[in-house]
Amino acid sequence: MSRFIDRVVLHVSAGKGGNGCASVHREKFKPLGGPDGGNGGRGGDVVLEVDRNVHTLLDFHFHPRAKATNGTQGMGGNREGANGSDLILKVPDGTVVVDKDGEVLADLVGIGTRFVAARGGRGGLGNASLASKARKAPGFALLGEDGESGDLILELKSVADVGLVGFPSAGKSSLVSVLSAAKPKIGDYPFTTLQPNLGVVSSGDTTFTVADVPGLIPGASEGRGLGLDFLRHLERCAVLAHVVDCATLEPGRDPISDVDALETELAAYQPALKGDAGLGDLADRPRIVILNKADVPEAAELAEMVTPDFEARGWPVFTISAVSREGLRPLTFALAKMVAEYREAHPPAEPKRQVIRPIAAKETGFDVIADPDTPGGFIVRGTQPERWVRQTAFDNDEAVGYLADRLARLGVEDALVKHGAEPGAFVTIGDVGFEWEPQTAAGVDIVRTGRGTDARLDQDERIGAAERKHARRVRRGLESEDPENR
Ligand code: GDP
Ligand code: MG
Repeated sequence: MSRFIDRVVLHVSAGKGGNGCASVHREKFKPLGGPDGGNGGRGGDVVLEVDRNVHTLLDFHFHPRAKATNGTQGMGGNREGANGSDLILKVPDGTVVVDKDGEVLADLVGIGTRFVAARGGRGGLGNASLASKARKAPGFALLGEDGESGDLILELKSVADVGLVGFPSAGKSSLVSVLSAAKPKIGDYPFTTLQPNLGVVSSGDTTFTVADVPGLIPGASEGRGLGLDFLRHLERCAVLAHVVDCATLEPGRDPISDVDALETELAAYQPALKGDAGLGDLADRPRIVILNKADVPEAAELAEMVTPDFEARGWPVFTISAVSREGLRPLTFALAKMVAEYREAHPPAEPKRQVIRPIAAKETGFDVIADPDTPGGFIVRGTQPERWVRQTAFDNDEAVGYLADRLARLGVEDALVKHGAEPGAFVTIGDVGFEWEPQTAAGVDIVRTGRGTDARLDQDERIGAAERKHARRVRRGLESEDPENR
């Protein structure tokens, strides 16, 4: 019997971007032929993809860490580093991705649905890409960025039409097996094998799935037993079917109090899937009552006695025996009808072939705040400045100078002045702290200060041509002025 693992913590790490290369073209009589260091390759992504042949999260239980490969370093001769390969992880239909705060990141329904779980880091630009009219021979390149990484929780919520709820030994598993054996299995349906607790039933034109949801006991909604794990599976069910053991001899149990006890759990459960992803509270789901074990004479009598009580709640009631198979045909027919009605009322949403986390709109802008831990110090926060710091090789003065230019051009210097920063103030950006030395008076065009200019390269036509072409493309709005967005 395969184990059924329906909740795993998976550590994903995307690949790191390769570093850019700083290199100078060499030819016999031309010792400084211009920068020719290539860009680093980007790191591979970690991607989850729904696959029809995967039915459990068991694999992740044994391999809870997933890492995509890194991009490689750029090289001289304008050779780009290779991109890392994406790591595609196959997950079952109905996998929900949750972060450690319980936030649902993706709800993967439909074969082929994808989710980028961790994005690879960008490769760093090589010095050829960093060259400009004002900076003809950069003696530095940008570092590749780390890929995203973190812990994700994967939960499997079965995609079943009918969920069977009932006390242990009520006969749920027996019922799934006799219902789904009543008709030949549907060839290409993903759940026909492997999954012990899901069955495919067909009746007339309607084919539907029935899930045996074990482990529902009083207290389940507070997490007793594995209660919450099992309640989770009910969230996607269109119909909830109570399977009632009418032959139990346990003291204090009878069909009415059994059903009431489980109804209390269903009412207390807070569905995790909200909005479009979920179907609403379990309390609102249509019900059907299946009184089982009618092959036992006392059970048949008891079933007859309690039927009017359940009918008074407006629920259809069926008396059956999973063992002798009596009453199965009308039950199957009624379930098919309820499922068909439900489907009519809830036409399937457009299949989501691709699920991607929303990327923050244009990641520009930054804030300056006073550093609560350092008197007179400041913290600069923003996607761009933090990324630029990560890309900087701090053992290279020219790279540090380039960073300073970029920050000044973005307006960080001006903002620090406005916030009253004094020269020498301690400024933190991302993981790095600096003693701030103002570079420029506001208004000076940094681009023209010519960092990285080497007089010997003034004649270099290749750079001049590339630069003119770039300027034209910027004017026509085809390229960004920032070399990284080119
Ligand atoms: P589950 O825990 O709800 O999945 O219950 P099972 O399907 O495993 O059944 C529990 C026990 O009840 C098993 O010994 C079954 O053989 C028995 N059982 C299930 N259905 C019937 C039935 O209709 N009549 C009788 N007499 N026993 C049944
Ligand atoms: Mg069972």
